[in-house]
Amino acid sequence: MVAQSQRDDGIWWECEDCGLLFDDKSDASEHEKRCDASEPTYIQ
Ligand SMILES: [Zn+2]
Repeated sequence: MVAQSQRDDGIWWECEDCGLLFDDKSDASEHEKRCDASEPTYIQ
């Protein structure tokens, strides 16, 4: 999921899976499609 985040310097978009912030919603959406933070490919 991509969450809108209001900051002092403007609106950011946050990937809820890994916490990355983007200043553009389309960038965040593109990242979210590829984000595998919720699907770990390794086991600690
Ligand atoms: Zn992510």
